[in-house]
Amino acid sequence: MKYYSLNGHIKEVNFAEAVLESIAADNGLYFPKNIERLPEDILSNFRQMDKVEIAYHAIKQFIGDEIAENDLKQIISETINFDFPLVEIEKNIYTLELFHGPTMAFKDVGARFMARCLSQFRKDKKITVLVATSGDTGGAVADGFFDVEGIEVIILYPQGKVSDLQEKQLTTFGKNIKALEVKGDFDDCQTMVKKAFLDTDLKNKLGLTSANSINVARWLPQMFYYIFALQQLPESVVFSVPSGNFGNICAGMVAQQLGFPIKHFVASNNINDSVRRYLLSGAFSPKEAKATISNAMDVGAPSNFDRMIKLYESSFDLKQNLSAYSYTDEQTAEALKSVFKNTNYLMDTHGTIGYLGLKEYFSTQKEKSIGVFLETAHPAKFANVIAPIIAQDVPLPTQLGSIMDKEKQCTVIDADFQEFKQLLENA
Ligand SMILES: *Cc1c(COP(=O)(O)O)cnc(C)c1O
Repeated sequence: MKYYSLNGHIKEVNFAEAVLESIAADNGLYFPKNIERLPEDILSNFRQMDKVEIAYHAIKQFIGDEIAENDLKQIISETINFDFPLVEIEKNIYTLELFHGPTMAFKDVGARFMARCLSQFRKDKKITVLVATSGDTGGAVADGFFDVEGIEVIILYPQGKVSDLQEKQLTTFGKNIKALEVKGDFDDCQTMVKKAFLDTDLKNKLGLTSANSINVARWLPQMFYYIFALQQLPESVVFSVPSGNFGNICAGMVAQQLGFPIKHFVASNNINDSVRRYLLSGAFSPKEAKATISNAMDVGAPSNFDRMIKLYESSFDLKQNLSAYSYTDEQTAEALKSVFKNTNYLMDTHGTIGYLGLKEYFSTQKEKSIGVFLETAHPAKFANVIAPIIAQDVPLPTQLGSIMDKEKQCTVIDADFQEFKQLLENA
């Protein structure tokens, strides 16, 4: 499969090059040259197929012959070796729990898939993966890449702005995973990473690549979630996706174009709602991110916006397929509390916004249908904000509990590019 840059100034590349480069030299996102609907025999039988088999059929056109069939199936099976349960919490309202992976956030799937693709493609070249994180991405990437030969991971996180649990997930791996605690905020971390990519010398010398959802190998495998949910349901479904950078929802849109029965998408946001405003006004006017209790979605300028526009330009109108709603912290807390009280199901703050978006969309529709909202993280990951809302402790699953006793290892740096660069060069 060929990929081109959405900024349009760069020659086409194959999948391996897109994965190794992350972002095109003209700063554009890579996008597949075409997306072909799957054959009818697969679409009419996908519910009976094994998870690895259907995931393979869905993703294979995006990789072509660059990874052999058996290797690709092996990569997929290692990527998705945990559960993706669908739980009905009200009539026709389901939650798809995406937090059963090793770091209990949905980013595990993309990180695990990308790590395995990179080790296929790097040949003998040493690769350095840079990632700026506001919390969840860094943990998933650290876990996904831990002990992978020839790959060094450097995580930048803002001092004092991630939860204790998240910090442990970033700083306790050791080996090929290095954590940098930056005296600044998330934007400072992201700026330093971007500068490193623009430094051609540094980029070539260290084989820099990014593990954010701009990378096609992290972005595309997220389409599996939608397919696994649909396997468990009899008809076409409305998906509500708690969104930040819009990587996850765009992967769902790819699944829809492959022919899977998806009726509509709801982009559910906190007050950082640039896509909702875009749908209303037709103008994309990103604003600086504001802090909320669903902090993994505190994104002012979603990095996958260009992909979303591209996805619908070709075949059908974006607005027909996408609604967007936005909620305040008060509305989120209120809904989280009332669902817990009425059903005893504890959502996390991000999932709650997905729930609210789905309910609001249904309230505008005469026809009844089945809705699924994605639960993107385990509530224990955000226990510090959830416990006060429900006035109860949120128990830590054993999977996460053991990490709290491990020793933090990291290097503290100023939010200064020169200091960062020196550190990279001496690493
Ligand atoms: C990353 C993340 C999101 C947002 O996903 P995008 O693909 O960036 O839209 C939502 N919820 C949680 C818990 C996350 O970690």
